[in-house]
Amino acid sequence: MSKVKTQYVCTECGAVSPKWAGQCIECNQWNCMVEQIEAKKPAQNARFAGYAGSEKQLQKLSEVEHQETARIATQLSELDRVLGGGLVAGSVVLIGGDPGIGKSTILLQCMCHLSESQNAVYVTGEESAQQISMRAKRLGLNGDKLNLLTETQVETIIATAQNVQPQVMVIDSIQTIYTELLQSAPGGVAQVRESTAQLVRFAKQKGIALFVVGHVTKDGALAGPRVLEHMVDAVLYFEGERDGRYRILRAVKNRFGAVNELGVFAMTEEGLKEVQNPSAIFLSRYQQAAAGSVVTVTWEGSRPLLVEVQALVDESHVGQPRRVAVGLDQNRLAMLLAVLSRHGGVFCHDQDVFLNVVGGVRVMETSADLALLLAAVSSLRNQVLPQNLIVFGEVGLAGEIRPVPNGQERIKEAKKHGFEVAIVPKANAPKKGVDGIRVLPVGQLSEALNSLNEI
Ligand SMILES: [Zn+2]
Repeated sequence: MSKVKTQYVCTECGAVSPKWAGQCIECNQWNCMVEQIEAKKPAQNARFAGYAGSEKQLQKLSEVEHQETARIATQLSELDRVLGGGLVAGSVVLIGGDPGIGKSTILLQCMCHLSESQNAVYVTGEESAQQISMRAKRLGLNGDKLNLLTETQVETIIATAQNVQPQVMVIDSIQTIYTELLQSAPGGVAQVRESTAQLVRFAKQKGIALFVVGHVTKDGALAGPRVLEHMVDAVLYFEGERDGRYRILRAVKNRFGAVNELGVFAMTEEGLKEVQNPSAIFLSRYQQAAAGSVVTVTWEGSRPLLVEVQALVDESHVGQPRRVAVGLDQNRLAMLLAVLSRHGGVFCHDQDVFLNVVGGVRVMETSADLALLLAAVSSLRNQVLPQNLIVFGEVGLAGEIRPVPNGQERIKEAKKHGFEVAIVPKANAPKKGVDGIRVLPVGQLSEALNSLNEI
């Protein structure tokens, strides 16, 4: 392949320079110069004349034909759910997560299943063919039909795929892939972006369903792949603690399905197994009641999920009391504690506050607001709340309890799991009530705190 010209572009201000520099000469930012392939510019006067012949026909909005997208089932029902009902041909799915969390494991399982009916290629740039084969053996997978390719150069991968014509392909991982068009090292933003661009173009052209694995760095950003999120059709994140038993696959972007859809897996000897009733696993507390524990119902994608929020509020011995939230938004915690002191009359300014969502699940919904405040109050007062209590609701800055979407379904889900008392926003309370569960509607934070004495 002929060498193309490259240039360096500042990611902050867009300044272009033929050479790399540590600092941008235009905006003086550091470490912002990224290598790019130089686009050929047409001569000024030939610019628009050169466009003749490339016109397209316009279409009336109402005349657009609707086509049902064909889906390929992956045999992993939870993965299918997160994808929006299965893989779509010609779609590119980015799977991100910490190294070692199980991205390769789930894809290997999925590809072994798929290779029974599809032409499947697994491209590995990270592990050797031997390592992958050993893993497949350990997981008891049948790899008779799965094609393996150990390669890191994107041009070679595409040339090979052009011959093999796969229907499904995995790139594991994008950080190891490079294009010969750029001089910078693999894993850098420029390489990751350009390699992905080539792969995406190829997958779209040939109708290949493509999985791209991207590692997340310590600070939580996908190294490079953050910049890829807009290039791909779907972005799935693997969450959960590395040593924990459960893994959560979350769709943060999906052109073919609901965003925030959750898939729950358990890590076992035979790889990742789907969890059919995720609500049950996050409620591990049934042994003994303890202060500081409250169960809430979150809404993830298209279904409710019961999770337990735990709080520990303890006298602080440092100048600035600590606010630590695991699985919840730290800034939101600080804000809610301010609301609690102003509108609830409960003061935590000399207390360390630790919050945790049991099971390593991350709750991004504001519907958990009320639950986490009541958990904190329960811990502060050392008051054990009844085990059959469920709480949800958003807390506003004025101390008002705001309604959340799908209130009725949340209450029903709680009832299904044996909960008998529900503290919910006034606007979410069903008019006629629900059989078998006592609903306590609250409009203000102070009402919610008072209702703790009625249960
Ligand atoms: Zn600049």
